[in-house]
Amino acid sequence: MLLLHLPISLYPCPSVSKNFLGYARMNSSPQIEPAGTEADFRIDGHVDVLYQMFESKSNVPFEELSDGAVTLEKMKSAGVAAAVFAFYCPDFHNGAGSAGFLSKLLDYAEQYLTGLVHIKSAKDLNNCISQKEPGMIWLIENADCLLEFDRGRLAQAGIRVAGLTHMGKNRIGDGNNVPFPEGLTSEGKALVKELAKEGLAFDAAHLADPGFRDLTRIYEGPLISSHTGVRALSNIPRNLTRSQVAIIIERKGVIGIAADPKMLATSGEASIDDVFRHIDWIAQSFDVDSIGIGTDFCGFFTPNAGFEDITRLSSLARIMSENGYPEPAIKKIMGGNWRVFYEKLFRQG
Ligand SMILES: [Zn+2]
Repeated sequence: MLLLHLPISLYPCPSVSKNFLGYARMNSSPQIEPAGTEADFRIDGHVDVLYQMFESKSNVPFEELSDGAVTLEKMKSAGVAAAVFAFYCPDFHNGAGSAGFLSKLLDYAEQYLTGLVHIKSAKDLNNCISQKEPGMIWLIENADCLLEFDRGRLAQAGIRVAGLTHMGKNRIGDGNNVPFPEGLTSEGKALVKELAKEGLAFDAAHLADPGFRDLTRIYEGPLISSHTGVRALSNIPRNLTRSQVAIIIERKGVIGIAADPKMLATSGEASIDDVFRHIDWIAQSFDVDSIGIGTDFCGFFTPNAGFEDITRLSSLARIMSENGYPEPAIKKIMGGNWRVFYEKLFRQG
């Protein structure tokens, strides 16, 4: 933990670090290119706008939203090339009705997620980056619904990543809020194997430790945690242990650090500096090649001071620069690592 407030380990010599930090402070604006250029795009690995829209029943198309942490306008002004939209299926639907709920959510998304390119291939993603047109990638959060869901429709929707649980217990396994959690059920293991054959990757966010262990035993492909913190800084079951971080890195996955104060600090109050602290812990303990951002915007209610909406991604890039992070590292964290992950996943499809 001693290293926490030092510049990242790419610059282990203290004198070099100090000089670098000084340079970064004096030149904070030239360090980062303007948001939205091809060289400096951003990707948010997890947003909960869809469920918020669906729940509000206001039926306002996404492109017409004017308020909220994530709007089309805000994505454009922040240079966000893509945001990963979670298809969040609440635990109370778990069981026979969950596939029907996902079906409704897909119908809703097809009608109301307007103004964004629906990214279903590496080419779509690269076009969004080069043409500066924001896009969306779809992801399942709580795969209980996939036990009965029409896989043809899933493929048609371009969905290539599934989180196995939400916080509670489902037919696949136990989520992070289950006391004394158990591993994946036999039904869950069979589903993982089927989905993996169909080219899906898995999101370990919300999965309790025994489920994480089982998943890595029966599945060898890429693994992400789309929105999370690390337990070294906020010791709650929702966050990743050091060895889980190491496994995701080894699998060439991405760890999306969230803006949700509940994940960042056990007090439940956090600021943008805490987002940086979680990023920095991974950078200093490992490297920057698997770090991303997965804000979880619209999925939590206590605001993060300084990171209130998606436009504040620029502030986060500035904090990294002020702390001596070199520009290539900042670009990887702000979107480059997610791009590599999704490009590869879509190409394998
Ligand atoms: Zn979540």
